[in-house]
Amino acid sequence: MGELQVEVLGHASVRFGIGGKTIYADPYSEVHDFAGNPAADLILITHNHYDHYDEKAYGKIQTPQTKFIVSQNVGHVDGRYTVLANDEYCFWEGIGIFAAEAYNINRRNPQGELFHPRGVGNGYVLDFDGFKVYLAGDTEPIPEMQDLPRIDLAFLPKNLPYTMTDEEFIKAANQLKPKFLYAYHYFEIDVPALRAKLDPSIALLN
Ligand code: ZN
Ligand code: ZN
Repeated sequence: MGELQVEVLGHASVRFGIGGKTIYADPYSEVHDFAGNPAADLILITHNHYDHYDEKAYGKIQTPQTKFIVSQNVGHVDGRYTVLANDEYCFWEGIGIFAAEAYNINRRNPQGELFHPRGVGNGYVLDFDGFKVYLAGDTEPIPEMQDLPRIDLAFLPKNLPYTMTDEEFIKAANQLKPKFLYAYHYFEIDVPALRAKLDPSIALLN
């Protein structure tokens, strides 16, 4: 497939380049100016919150040919959209795309509702010819993470009140044991403190 390029654009926005194709995950206009950026061949959306499904961002990189792979709570907006429910799998241009579960167990809004109820949002595992990238989405550490295949590069969220504490982030990472790890979707980060508690086999890229 050739070299995989990975660019972190801020918050949960990531851009991948491979074989002349450009893939965006959760493009978000508050953290990156998408005007003039490479056109998207594929846009992955983990769920419908404004910081993940943002028309001001995807509107600047989409074309009539852009494909979208989205969660059930984004839905089948037009013919370019493919909806994946949790545990569904598809291929795009030879890249395997698995929709992992992503949800809260404990964290709720003041009305008592989970920020991310189970079954509506996705994480994604992208299989680039055996090199597996995990975009966890907005999730707490969940048991289903232990069923994931060996991950080469993991993006795990780290912030409250929506996703994980630092301790949960470390626990999830040490169970998952990806070769490379990037903390994303954070408001503040203490990289040396995280690195000190991570399994030494994990390379933290922040
Ligand atoms: Zn969210
Ligand atoms: Zn979010």
